[in-house]
Amino acid sequence: MCYSIPGKVIDINNGAITLEYFDEKRKARNDFYELALGDYVYAQGGFVIQQIPTEEAQEILKTWKDFFYKLQEVDLALTQEPKSLYQLANNSRRKYLGNSCCVHGIIEFSNYCHNDCLYCGLRASNMSLSRYRMAAEEIIQTAEQAAGEFGFKALVLQSGEDLFFDEGKLLEIVRQIMEKAPALLILSFGERSLEIYQKLFEAGARGVLLRFETSNSGLYEKMRPRHQLEERLKLLKDLKTMGYLIMTGFLIGLPGQSEDDLLNDIHLAASLEPEMFSFGPFISHPETPLKNAPRPSLDQALTAIARTRLLYPNARILATTALETLDKEKALRAGLMAGANSLMINLTPKKYRSLYEIYPKKANPEDNTQETIKKVLTLLQELGRAPTDLGLN
Ligand code: SAH
Ligand code: SF4
Repeated sequence: MCYSIPGKVIDINNGAITLEYFDEKRKARNDFYELALGDYVYAQGGFVIQQIPTEEAQEILKTWKDFFYKLQEVDLALTQEPKSLYQLANNSRRKYLGNSCCVHGIIEFSNYCHNDCLYCGLRASNMSLSRYRMAAEEIIQTAEQAAGEFGFKALVLQSGEDLFFDEGKLLEIVRQIMEKAPALLILSFGERSLEIYQKLFEAGARGVLLRFETSNSGLYEKMRPRHQLEERLKLLKDLKTMGYLIMTGFLIGLPGQSEDDLLNDIHLAASLEPEMFSFGPFISHPETPLKNAPRPSLDQALTAIARTRLLYPNARILATTALETLDKEKALRAGLMAGANSLMINLTPKKYRSLYEIYPKKANPEDNTQETIKKVLTLLQELGRAPTDLGLN
C-alpha cells in the first residue's frame, strides 16, 4: 500500500529477479515488465507490480532512507533476549525475513454462497442474512481507488461461491482491474474449474487465497458437506503448478479438532509450499449449526502463529482479520509480535461490510478506510516494520 518502497533491480534471471532495498536483498517474480539492471519497481508478495521512473524512485528512497534504518533499530530492540514462545518466534521472524511487512487490501464483493460449510455465516442455509452482490463497475472502482488513492499493491477479491459471477463476468473484472489498478490480484472465491482459473491467470490474476480449512479429512467432510479434502488439495496443487502464488491455511478451534490436528494443519500448509500462510481462529456464528462452539482463546491463535514461525522460519504469515476480532485492541499487535509479518485491511464499501458476515462482529466494521490505514501504519512504525517486500524464498 502507501506503505511500500521501490526496490532496485540488481539481478535478472529470466522471470526471477533480485531487488535491493537499501542494504537488503529480496527475490521477486517478474511476469509483466521488460526490466534492465538498475531499474526500480514496486514488488508485493514476491511479485513485481509496477515499474517506477528512476528519478521518482530515487526521490522516494531519499525520503525513506533514515527512517528505514530507524525502523530496523526499533525491530532489533524489540526482539532482543527472547524468553517466551512468542518472543522466540518474533526473533526468528526478524532473523530470517527482517522487518518487512506486507499489507494487503480485501474487497468482499458478494455474500451469496451455494455451499453450506457448517462454520460459516454465509452458508446457503442461513436464511436470515441479507444478500448482496457488488456490480462489476463498483468492484473495479473500489480496486481503482485502493490502488490509486490508497496505494495498495496487493488486492484480494473475495466472495462466497457465487456462480452469478460466471467466467465472463470474472474475466471482465480481472481484465479491467489489471488495466486500471496495477496490483497483485489475489482470487478468493472458492472452487472453480481449472479452465476458469487458467483464463483468469491469462487475464493477469496471480494469487489465490484458498484454505484447506483442516488437515483432518473426516472433520473436513463433516464441516463441508458434499466436499472432500483431497479435491481441495488437488486444486491447490494444480493452481500452484499453473503459476499462481498460493495463500492457504486452516481454521483454529473447529469443534472436533485435536491438538494433533492443529500440528498436522501447520505441516500440511507447509507441504503445499505456499507463498503465504493464512490461518485464523474459528469464530462461531449464531445462524449456523456450530453456534454454541466456544471461540478459541487469543493464546491458542498466537500459539499457532508462533509454532508455524519456529517450524518454518521462512514463512510469510498473515495476521488475519478473524484474529483481530478476538481482541480489537491487542490482537493485531500481538500477532505481529508472535511471528506474523503480513496483514489485511478491509476495503469493502461500508454499506456491505456488516453483511459479509462469515463470522459475527468483524474487526472495526464502522471504521473508515483512511482511519484504519492510519492506525495500521502507526502500529507498524511502532513495531519497527518496514514496507519492503517480503520477497520469495
Ligand atoms: N468462499 C470462499 C472464500 C470466502 S470464505 C472459500 O470458502 O474459500 C474465506 C474463509 O473464511 C474460509 O476459508 C474460512 O477459513 C473462513 N471462515 C469461514 N467461516 C468462519 C468463521 N466462522 N470464523 C472464522 N473464519 C471463518
Ligand atoms: Fe461459502 Fe466459503 Fe462460507 Fe463455505 S466458507 S459457506 S464456501 S463463503
